[in-house]
Amino acid sequence: MTPLTGKAALVTGASRGIGRAIARRLAADGAMVAVHYGHNETAARETVHLIDKDGGRAFPIRAELGVPGDVETLFAALEAGLAAWTGQVRLDILVNNAAVTADSIETITPEAFDHLIAVNTKAPLFIIQRALPLLNDGGRIINLSTAATRIAMPEQPYAMSKAAIEVLSRSLAQVVGGRGITVNAVAPGPTVTDMNPWMLDSPEVQQMVGSGNAIPRVGWPADIADVVAFLASEEGRWVTGQVIDASGGCFLG
Ligand code: NDP
Repeated sequence: MTPLTGKAALVTGASRGIGRAIARRLAADGAMVAVHYGHNETAARETVHLIDKDGGRAFPIRAELGVPGDVETLFAALEAGLAAWTGQVRLDILVNNAAVTADSIETITPEAFDHLIAVNTKAPLFIIQRALPLLNDGGRIINLSTAATRIAMPEQPYAMSKAAIEVLSRSLAQVVGGRGITVNAVAPGPTVTDMNPWMLDSPEVQQMVGSGNAIPRVGWPADIADVVAFLASEEGRWVTGQVIDASGGCFLG
C-alpha cells in the first residue's frame, strides 16, 4: 500500500510547473488528486493523463483565482469531483500552489498589485477557510511561499504577497493543531518552470542561477514536490507552523 492510499488532495495550479510535479507525486503516493487550473485546460488534462499513465487517480477542476466568486467556483467543482470519484466530500491534503509574479516596486501599478494579492494571498486564505470544514482531522495544509521572502530581490511586491502566506501558515498551525492538522509553508528558490521563462531553455542561465546555491544547481519541480510529499505524509506529522526552505541553499551567505 502506498503512503497516501485513501487520501484526497487538492493542488491548486497543478496544470504546470511545481503544481504538476506535486500532483503527480501525491498521486504516485496513492492520493486521489484534484488538479486545479485557471486557464490552461490542455496542460491540466496533460497532468491528469500523466497521473493516469502512472496508475494514479486524478480529475481536473477549473477556477480562475483572484476574481469575484473564485473560491465558490473552485469548491463547486471540487465537491462535485470528490463526490463522483470518492463517494464523499472530504479532503485530507490542501496544497495552495497557484500564484503569479509581478513587476518590481518601481513599476508595479495599483491594479497589478491588487491582482497579485488577490491571487497569491487572498485566494489561499479563503480557500483554507472554505476547506477547513471538509478537511479530515490529521489533515495537511501546505502553502507555497518563496525563498525571496528572506533575500532582498527586485520582486518585492511578489515577496510581500508570499510573506503573508508564511505568517498565515504559522498562525493557522496554532489554531488547527488540536485537530492534528499541520500547516506549513514551503519556500522554493529559483526553479525551472514557466514562471521563469528566461531559464526554461537555457542550460547556461540555469547554471548561472544555480551557482548561487549551496548545492550549485538550479531547482526542478520534483525537488519541491518531494518536500511537499514529506509534509503530506504520516512522517511529516510532527512538523507544523514552519517555513521549509526548499532551495538547495539559495544565497545562504
Ligand atoms: P507556473 O507559472 O509554472 O504555474 C502556475 C500555476 O498556477 C498554473 O497551474 C496556473 O494555471 C496557476 N495559476 C496562476 N494564476 C492563476 C489564477 N489567477 N487562477 C487560477 N490558477 C492560476 O508557477 P510555478 O510552478 O513556478 O510556481 C508554483 C508555486 O511555487 C507558486 O506559488 C510560486 O510562487 C512558487 N515559487 C516558484 C518559484 C520558481 O522559481 N518557479 C520560486 C519560488 C516560489 P494555468 O496553467 O491554468 O494558467
